[in-house]
Amino acid sequence: PHPVLREVAKPVARVDDEIRRLVDDMAETMYDAPGVGLAAPQIGVGLRVFVIDIASEDEPSELYVFINPEIIRREGMALNQEGCLSVPGIYENVERADSVTVTALDENGARFTLNASGLLAVCIQHEMDHLRGKVFVEYLSRLKQTRIRAKLKKRQRETL
Ligand code: ZN
Repeated sequence: PHPVLREVAKPVARVDDEIRRLVDDMAETMYDAPGVGLAAPQIGVGLRVFVIDIASEDEPSELYVFINPEIIRREGMALNQEGCLSVPGIYENVERADSVTVTALDENGARFTLNASGLLAVCIQHEMDHLRGKVFVEYLSRLKQTRIRAKLKKRQRETL
């Protein structure tokens, strides 16, 4: 993985046009992939920003933008299968809080608070991890991580 994925992202000082451009880039990258979430470190930018859209293909898109997010409540426990655009093709079960409350700024710099459960709660926690330099496979056993690394290396060789 790219080294910026291991770094702790910095807070956004001011939500301005530059940040809005970053948000647009991130949304485009996420929809192109396609994925349900993307954090700024995944495109090489070490800032506390992520975007999520969990709408399925037959639903209208609903983009959530989180700038300087903080989780202020966690409740319950749930095991869900997760994947990550930075670890392509790998899906593993990860245990996380079942519901969370997050507060963040939107792309206009306005603060909002959101209660989330289910897939949205999973995505928020997954993207929050990216902001502190953590990728979901780190929750897995060492053996599993070694296997995943070998798998990714093999795939990289095959695509060269
Ligand atoms: Zn990810």
